[in-house]
Amino acid sequence: MQENESEEQKIHNRCEKWKSILLESSPLLTFLMDEMKKAGAPLHKKFISCAPCGPDRAGGFAPKYGIVLCENQLVSSDHVEDTLAHELIHAYDNATVQLDWSSPTHLACTEIRAANLSRECAFTREVRRGHFSIAKQHQRCVKRRAVLGLMQAGHSKEVAEESIRVVWDKCFHDTAPFDEIY
Ligand SMILES: [Zn+2]
Repeated sequence: MQENESEEQKIHNRCEKWKSILLESSPLLTFLMDEMKKAGAPLHKKFISCAPCGPDRAGGFAPKYGIVLCENQLVSSDHVEDTLAHELIHAYDNATVQLDWSSPTHLACTEIRAANLSRECAFTREVRRGHFSIAKQHQRCVKRRAVLGLMQAGHSKEVAEESIRVVWDKCFHDTAPFDEIY
C-alpha cells in the first residue's frame, strides 16, 4: 500500500513538473495563455490541475473547474503539451464565444478547433498512432479526434458525426487566435 501511494505521488509530481516547465517554455502554450489574457479571461495556473482519470481520456475542461491533465495517462512532456493546448483551445472558446456545452454542434465546433489547432494531429503524432497515409490525413485526424471528444461527452457516434458535418467548414477554418494553421 505504501509503495502504491508513493508511485501515485511520483506520477502526480511528474505531471506537475511537466506542466510548470511547459507553461514557462512552450511557445504554443505561452501564446495561448497570452491570448486568453488579451481576451480579458486570463487563466490562472491553479485552474490547471493534474489528477488521475479513467483510461479513455488524456485531459478535460469544464467551465467551472478549469483544465484537468490526466496524470496517469500522460507519459511524456510532448503528450502533456498537446493535451494542454487542446484544453486551452476549449478554455479560449469558452471565454470568447457564447458556448452552450450541452449543444452537440457547439461542442463539435470547439472539438474540431481543439484537434485542429493543438498539434495533436501533426503528422509525427499520427504516425506514432499507426496512421500512415498522407493525403487528407490531417483533416481525417481532426474529424476522428472530434468524434471521440463528443463521444466522451456522452453523445452517440451518429450525433457526433452529424454535428461535426454540419459545422465543419465554419469551424475547421476558424483558426483564432492563430492567424493560420502553422
Ligand atoms: Zn476536447
